[in-house]
Amino acid sequence: MRIVDIRETAIPLKSKLANSSFDFSEMTTSVVAVITDVIRDGKPVCGFAFNSTGRYACGAQMRERFIPRIMAAAPDTLLDATGENIDPDKVLAAMMRREKIGGDAERSIGMGTIEVAVWDAVAKIAGQPLYKVLADRFSGGTVPDKVFCYVGGGWYWPGQTIKDLQEEMRRHLDAGYNMVKMKVGGLPLDEDVRRLEAVLQIVGSGDNLAVDANGKFGRDEALAYAKALAPFKLRWFEEPCHPLDLALFAELASVYAPPLATGENLYSTQDVENLVRFGGWRAGSDIIQVDPPQAYGIAQYARTLEMLKRHGWQRSAMFPHGGNQMSLAMAAGFGLGGAESYPGVFGDFGGFADDARVENGAVTLSGRLGIGFEGQAALYKIMRELARI
Ligand code: MG
Repeated sequence: MRIVDIRETAIPLKSKLANSSFDFSEMTTSVVAVITDVIRDGKPVCGFAFNSTGRYACGAQMRERFIPRIMAAAPDTLLDATGENIDPDKVLAAMMRREKIGGDAERSIGMGTIEVAVWDAVAKIAGQPLYKVLADRFSGGTVPDKVFCYVGGGWYWPGQTIKDLQEEMRRHLDAGYNMVKMKVGGLPLDEDVRRLEAVLQIVGSGDNLAVDANGKFGRDEALAYAKALAPFKLRWFEEPCHPLDLALFAELASVYAPPLATGENLYSTQDVENLVRFGGWRAGSDIIQVDPPQAYGIAQYARTLEMLKRHGWQRSAMFPHGGNQMSLAMAAGFGLGGAESYPGVFGDFGGFADDARVENGAVTLSGRLGIGFEGQAALYKIMRELARI
């Protein structure tokens, strides 16, 4: 058994949306296919992944360093103890050869995307959905039949009115979601508060609403927003400031009682450990949102969860960033707090299986093998063409 080829292609997301800090007009993502020599139904088993959203495609590093290192490894050295499947952790170790410690984001996204595609192949070879494989390995075999899910929405877009925003939120509730998230920081504070109050009229209470500032604020603005937002008792206040400004995180946590959230811009277990040791992050209330395909993949995510457990953190505080089929599988397999969802956003890359149902704030899981991209017709077409299957 061996990996016979790994391919990457960069696809534009074709989105006009913007958050407080940037728009997505140039955004791309790397789609990866890991092709094995295992044949099922007359075709090679292929694993797929993409590098989530918000970070650009990274095929250059993959082609120059990571893929050649995997292909140069003796195939037997990449197998698990049974010799009957690939060990994603050994694939990650092969990619890490001759890499200097630190500087994680330069490689963690490319490596993580390849690693997640390997897991897709591993689960298909095992004849199981990925969430089942993860549950057996990391979660005592417990598999939920649905996963709590909220909409990452409330973006800024040209010409948008408050009524448009309310209509968007009403659509999400009509689609079966209970909780939504909206952007803040793209307008002056008083206008953002007006937007927020308008959304609260639709979703009812602060428990059903989170806000995301996408790391925009310096100290004065972050504290001003914290003061203005606190009375609304929101589900969480996400990325108020730069993701590595641990001193400001700690200061905010000391004055802002409701939950804070961050993590989608942390790329290593050490980054996350620094957050909980020095950033004032409060176990039992705050939220951590690492995006595994951007942070070395699933095996490393399991190590991050182990580290967090040592610091008193429950998995229910974990909401992986991404809003896609990969983060859904991980939320289910690791028993996390829930997943994000981007219905109708990011073209072929947002959302879940075409037949997924959302009811009372939870999304159903399919029995498809692997991550289940085969249930997303438009996305799977891109993947199948890349793998030429
Ligand atoms: Mg965010």
